[in-house]
Amino acid sequence: MLPLRSKIRLGSGNVKKTCQKLKSGSLSLRQEHKHRFLFTRTGVSSAWNHDGRVRQASTSAESSVGLPDQARVVICGGGVIGTSVAYHLAELGWSDVVLLEQGSLSCGTTWHSAGLIGQMKGNTALNKLYMYSRDLYKRLEDQGEATGFKPCGSISIARTHDRMVAMKRNAAVAKTIGLECHEITPKEALDLAPLLRTDDIEYAQFFPTDGAASPSDIVNTFARLAKQKGVKVIEKCQVNQVLTDEKHKEVRGVDTNLGTIRCEYFVNCAGQWGRELGKRSEPRVRVPLHSCEHYHLVTKPFGVDPMMPVIRDPDGAVYFREWSGGILAGGFEPTAKAVFHEHIPEKFEFQLLQEDWDHFQILLDQILHRIPAMESAEVRQLTNGPESFSPDGRAIVGECPEIRKYFVAAGMSSLGIVSAGGIGHAVAEWIVNGEPTWDLWAVDVKRFVDLHNNKKFLRDRVKEVLGTTYSIPYPECDYRSSRKLRTSPLYPILLEQGAVYGSTMGFERPLYFEEQTREEYTDNTIPRLTFYRPSWFDAVASEYWACKEGVGLFDMSYVTKIELKSAGTEVVDFLQKMCSNDIDKPVGTVIHTGVHNHKGGYENDCSLARVAENCYMMISLSTTQTRAYNWLSQHLPANGSVILSDVSSMYTTLNVIGPKAKDFLHELAEIPLHITKFPSMTVKTMYLGHASGIKAMRLTHTGDDGWMLYIPSEYALHVYDTLISSGHDYGLKNVGLMAHRSLRIEKYLAYWGIDLDSNSTPLECGRDFRVKKNKPFIGQEALLKQKEEGIKKRFVQLLVEDHDNHSDPWPWGGEPIYRNGKFAGMTTSAAYGFSLESHICLGYVQDFTDNTGNRNIINENWVMDPNAKYEIDIAGRRFPVKVGISAPKSPYMPTQHNLDDHYPMYETQ
Ligand SMILES: Cc1cc2nc3c(=O)[nH]c(=O)nc-3n(C[C@H](O)[C@H](O)[C@H](O)COP(=O)(O)OP(=O)(O)OC[C@H]3O[C@@H](n4cnc5c(N)ncnc54)[C@H](O)[C@@H]3O)c2cc1C
Repeated sequence: MLPLRSKIRLGSGNVKKTCQKLKSGSLSLRQEHKHRFLFTRTGVSSAWNHDGRVRQASTSAESSVGLPDQARVVICGGGVIGTSVAYHLAELGWSDVVLLEQGSLSCGTTWHSAGLIGQMKGNTALNKLYMYSRDLYKRLEDQGEATGFKPCGSISIARTHDRMVAMKRNAAVAKTIGLECHEITPKEALDLAPLLRTDDIEYAQFFPTDGAASPSDIVNTFARLAKQKGVKVIEKCQVNQVLTDEKHKEVRGVDTNLGTIRCEYFVNCAGQWGRELGKRSEPRVRVPLHSCEHYHLVTKPFGVDPMMPVIRDPDGAVYFREWSGGILAGGFEPTAKAVFHEHIPEKFEFQLLQEDWDHFQILLDQILHRIPAMESAEVRQLTNGPESFSPDGRAIVGECPEIRKYFVAAGMSSLGIVSAGGIGHAVAEWIVNGEPTWDLWAVDVKRFVDLHNNKKFLRDRVKEVLGTTYSIPYPECDYRSSRKLRTSPLYPILLEQGAVYGSTMGFERPLYFEEQTREEYTDNTIPRLTFYRPSWFDAVASEYWACKEGVGLFDMSYVTKIELKSAGTEVVDFLQKMCSNDIDKPVGTVIHTGVHNHKGGYENDCSLARVAENCYMMISLSTTQTRAYNWLSQHLPANGSVILSDVSSMYTTLNVIGPKAKDFLHELAEIPLHITKFPSMTVKTMYLGHASGIKAMRLTHTGDDGWMLYIPSEYALHVYDTLISSGHDYGLKNVGLMAHRSLRIEKYLAYWGIDLDSNSTPLECGRDFRVKKNKPFIGQEALLKQKEEGIKKRFVQLLVEDHDNHSDPWPWGGEPIYRNGKFAGMTTSAAYGFSLESHICLGYVQDFTDNTGNRNIINENWVMDPNAKYEIDIAGRRFPVKVGISAPKSPYMPTQHNLDDHYPMYETQ
């Protein structure tokens, strides 16, 4: 067995030669390690623990209880996720639960995981999940229930300035959620981890409560504790099919190789098998994930301190932890290898994949760069294990839209161990209470549409997803793979005109238009990335001013369009129940309304156009496509009287925005557009150019005057050409999402999924003027109660002061807000307001009583108290902000006066 150094020296520091040697077998590492570390045993499953010893996991004998005929919940998958769900259901008092595992517990991906428990991921909701997991593993370990958790802390290091900004943004969030995070000098990093190379460190942080755990210990402990409370764990039992009721709407049972179990709930925790299992039900359930090869290297012991902190060097895309006196080092190579595209081999239990040293070399270079002492350590094993990744690198969790009571918790994207505690808790709560406590939209299975489940799409996308795990989380960063998938018919034309695109739900959305062809940067699928003043600032400014002074033309084809209709008035009754605004308005009216859950929180915030007596078109953001449809369909009358159709692809949508929009369109449309004839929030069908059947709604989503044109897609090119060729005299300009965002944030308009979520209510957002009290609707009771008791958070607009637009990092959303020096909430979105000449954020303020999240009732006087001093934290620096609960006045803000005659115009606050 040769040390890495000697191998490197053999090649005069050339790692490649080392790898070649290893590969050629001259070092015969593979054979040796195969015996030591690959376990495929009969009867007893074993796992590799953090201390390097092989511990016995559960045995088939231990778990072989007979298959019951029925259970309340059946969980498929005995990895860290499935056992966590079982444990948490038992903790909540549900013990009529059966967990089925086709092999032995932890035999899938869990057993070969590195077991890093890092709590900071830059997203408050996810951080809370990870912090919950960490606390649980520590508590269990302290109680003598093995999880292998050791609180060794973790060090994160930055090699570049931008990485430092990203880390400082994280530190600002950490402070608000009670996650200890200390800035440390390279010298202090060296004191904590003497093996570290520190000469190129720009910045470092230490998270003392982070650590590392033993994944198979966690699984065994979860399973054992669940069993103690009555949960049945059955190994060697494969789920063949999930059975549904005669209408194929709800779970009824599972069919397995050992027989059938009737059940009420099913939870797909099948890891990398999750997508295939999703196909084995009627209807199929989409679980968009694909396996990738995932590597780490383990050395033999060379005196490494067991409490060496976990080290993350994201600029080198590598991480390290102590492992049995040696080091386990792994990482996220830029382009991963997708695996098991056709199928996962039979009996893939406690198995690894063929190692590929050439592929690992890019990480090995970085590993040896950061811990040079590893050169002299002997290699124990290069582990190549499959892990499943989702299209956006976040877990896939929640009740599936296709079948009621069918839950999924899979696609952990290399974060399954740190996620498991929190996700198990959330899924158990969701099943038992009907919803989780945390808003889990970031990981909700309903954030996908069908294209995401396309196997070829997944194969191409996950290769990139793995590689971006440690990339700098710039604002507007996007994937390059599997793009140009859902496009408007105008895509090629707008591309020629300099459009730079970003994608949501696989739909390409123009972000802004490059004024000159970029020579050094020609990728139009992603904007130039920065935390500071972006290079597109001037381009966006001129688009913004076109909307304020002339006409802006924005291709919004990506929005979700759902048609609802009935033969009689059933659709009206249905929508009155679903919506908080009164939707029984004359045909031709557009109503802006919230759609709420029973807590009064927003399930959606949309425009409803009454296009015929018993037909409405619902318009909402692209991200709501699956969720909004699902929410409506779950509540449809059982007699089938209301029909729902997703008509998103039928219409190309152009938003014509600006003070000259009316005169401009007047030339092209046959109908009168004067505000008395075509009032705001109304819809008419019109001809435009030579095209017909265009649904024109007088509204914008920015608070400015204008029209949303829903154009049958076959006319899209003609209509666009007509508009563009006639627009010159009106200062018409193509505009993109960035300018649109500035307009709407300046106008204090909230968007669902960004500013509004299932836990925010109209009263908290100052939108109760849209809530009609004289009719029952879902959520009404909760809203009435809240009205009586008062609110605990308030949606606000914040104008950033004393900020140097050129040299200071910008706010991008996700910044902590302080009131009189005390943490008061988070911003939800941000943009530069060109009229107000200031950065503007939207967000919520709250009066926390302590650090447990308890809050006092607040009111507008508290928010607007002239003595209250508000600040936001941008990457570690506090900037004063001016708070507001209405859109600020500005000469460029539309008012009744500068719009059209004296007609009531917009529903603004
Ligand atoms: C090299 C590597 C390093 C990693 N390091 C970390 C880390 O440091 N920190 C971290 O948080 N995460 C890490 N991960 C990720 C983590 O290991 C996984 O996300 C996690 O183990 C996934 O757990 P799971 O329960 O979803 O899947 P699995 O462990 O694969 O469990 C799924 C189970 O379902 C069973 N199953 C499938 N189909 C059926 C069926 N039809 N019937 C019955 N049973 C079925 C399978 O046999 C399997 O046991 C790492 C992963 C790898 C590969």
